[in-house]
Amino acid sequence: MSQPIKIGIVGVGKIVRDQHLPALAKDQDYRLVAAASRHGKVEGIPNFPTIEAMLDAVPELEAVSLCMPPQFRYDAARTALEAKKHVFLEKPPGATVSEVEDLKALAARQGVSLFASWHSRYAPAVEAARGFLASTRIRLAAIVWKEDVRRWHPNQDWIWAPGGFGVFDPGINALSIATHILPAMFITSAVLDFPENRAAPVAAQVAFRTSNGLPVTMELDWLQTGPQSWDILADTDAGKMVLSGGGSKLAIDGQVVHEEPEAEYPMLYKRFAEIVRAGTSDVDLAPLQHVADAFMLGKRNVVDAFFD
Ligand code: NAP
Repeated sequence: MSQPIKIGIVGVGKIVRDQHLPALAKDQDYRLVAAASRHGKVEGIPNFPTIEAMLDAVPELEAVSLCMPPQFRYDAARTALEAKKHVFLEKPPGATVSEVEDLKALAARQGVSLFASWHSRYAPAVEAARGFLASTRIRLAAIVWKEDVRRWHPNQDWIWAPGGFGVFDPGINALSIATHILPAMFITSAVLDFPENRAAPVAAQVAFRTSNGLPVTMELDWLQTGPQSWDILADTDAGKMVLSGGGSKLAIDGQVVHEEPEAEYPMLYKRFAEIVRAGTSDVDLAPLQHVADAFMLGKRNVVDAFFD
C-alpha cells in the first residue's frame, strides 16, 4: 500500500466533528497531521489560527480539506493550491460558479488534485437508482426536500447570508443526486421565498425540463417539523421509483430494492485518495450551476421573518 496522505483540516465546526474526523480516523489512506481554525481545535495534533500559519509550520502537508462555509472557501483554496497541496472542498464547492472554475484551472496549472465533494452522491442507494432509471423510460420526476432548519442548522448565520444559499444548502444535496441519476436538465421557472429579515430563501419551488422534454420539479422547504423528507420520485415505464432518506433507500412500486447504512464521508475520502494517486481532479459544477440559475431566473417572494 502507498504511504498515507498527510492531510490538514481547515474550518473546524459541525461537519468536521460529525463526519470528517470519524472518517479520517478509520482511513489508512490518510494521516491527519494539523488543523487550522479561528476557534475550533482538533485534539492530539498541532492547531493553527489560519491556513497560512499551518502551511508555514507543517511543510510536509500534502492535502487539505476545506470545511468552512462556502463564502470563505475560495481564498483558502487558492492559498493551498498555490502551495501545491491537493484540495478537498466541502459542498457547495464555493459561493459562485466562476470562482470554482478558477480554482479548477489553478489546480491543473499547479499539477495537484481538486475535489468538489458532493456527499449525497455517495449515499448507498444512489447508484442503484441511477441504474434503474437508465434501464427504463422516465415520464416525470420530482424532488421533495423538506427539513427543519432549526434542527439541522441552529444559529448558523452564514447560511442566511448572501452566498450561504439558504434552503439551497440542503437543496444542493438533492441536486447533486438528481444531476447524477436523471438526464441533463435546465431550469424553466422558479419561485424563491425570502424571509423579510434574511438574505437567503427559506423555501423554493423550481421547475426543470430535460432536453427531451421530461418535466422535473423540485420543492424545497426549511420549515418542515416532524418527519423530514429527502426524496426523489420518478414515474417510469418500469414503475414508480422512490429514492428516500437522502439517497439511502430505493423502492420500486412500494417494494424496497436497496437499503444499507450510509458511509458517505468514508466514500468521499476514498474517492479523494483515488484522484490524488491518479493525478486528476473531480469537479462537477452541475449542482452549483442549477442553484445559480435558480437565483438568476427565480421570482422573489417576501415571506414572514425567520428567527432561530
Ligand atoms: P459551521 O460549523 O458553522 O462552520 C464550520 C467552521 O467554519 C466554523 O466552526 C468556523 O470555525 C469556520 N468559519 C465560520 N465562518 C468563517 C469565516 N468567516 N471565515 C473562516 N472560517 C469560518 O458549519 P458546518 O455545518 O460545519 O458547515 C460547513 C460546510 O459544510 C458548509 O459548506 C456546509 O454546507 C457543509 N456541510 C454541512 C453539513 C451539516 O450537517 N452541518 C453537512 C454536510 C456538509 P472557526 O470559527 O474556528 O474558524
